[in-house]
Amino acid sequence: MTLPADTHVHSEWSWDTGGPRSDAAGRMRETCRVASRIGLATLVFTEHLDLDPEWRADPGDLLPHQRHLLNDAGIVALPPLDVDGYLDSIDRCRHEFPELHIMTGLEYGQPHLNDERAAELLGRGVFDRVNGSLHTLAAAAGRSEPNTLFRLQPPDDVIRAYLDEIPRMVAGSDSFAVFTHIDYPVRSWPTTTAGPFDPKRFEGEYRSAMRSLAESGRALEMNTRRIWPWIPQWWSEEGGRAISFGSDAHTPDAIAAGFPEAMQMVERFGFRAGSRPEDFWTR
Ligand SMILES: [Zn+2]
Ligand SMILES: [Zn+2]
Repeated sequence: MTLPADTHVHSEWSWDTGGPRSDAAGRMRETCRVASRIGLATLVFTEHLDLDPEWRADPGDLLPHQRHLLNDAGIVALPPLDVDGYLDSIDRCRHEFPELHIMTGLEYGQPHLNDERAAELLGRGVFDRVNGSLHTLAAAAGRSEPNTLFRLQPPDDVIRAYLDEIPRMVAGSDSFAVFTHIDYPVRSWPTTTAGPFDPKRFEGEYRSAMRSLAESGRALEMNTRRIWPWIPQWWSEEGGRAISFGSDAHTPDAIAAGFPEAMQMVERFGFRAGSRPEDFWTR
């Protein structure tokens, strides 16, 4: 079985792993080693590009190794992506693992709000793949992640706000080719107070969001942290023609996790591999 490319992978160059001078040092190399061992021929290191100036959070909303980024005003002040360090590291891995096709990329947060700030970097043309992500939503002040908002708002409102923003993100930026993890807020859904997440309750909103992505000709990522059949089903029914596969691995052991299951699942909805592992699967 040929695995499709893992097109959503993080390494020490993503701020949320702790960065290149933390325990995460060497993670890109180790991830390549695992990819080589499991026969994953192609992978894309899509490090976080997060430029929102007013991301608000409480310390408890962040992982322990991320809390030092929170300033006294309650704003998460992210270090800039070290593009040169990242590209050097890519280069070293390409030499060390000639059997792999190692591609460059970004996971670009809130493109519709940040394209001016990102223009110089994106204009350099050094990234093979730009994934667009929606991680934060408008809050009373600034923007916040869903896990913060679930403490402050009815949970259904958070999901609806997330899905409502997707068409605005599509209309507001041409910088990204793939929309990642459409189930992102579900990761922090408050099951203990709200019960298990039921996608059917938001079916209309999911379908509209997917329709806007499909009409713009973009691909939808099958984020394999959770394999949900309703995602490729509704995507195909709303006119979606292309998908990518992404593990969203932040650690080497998570690379290509769930891929065989996800491949089987999307085949049921008519998606087929392209000629190269990094090609979108299409229908
Ligand atoms: Zn993400
Ligand atoms: Zn990610």
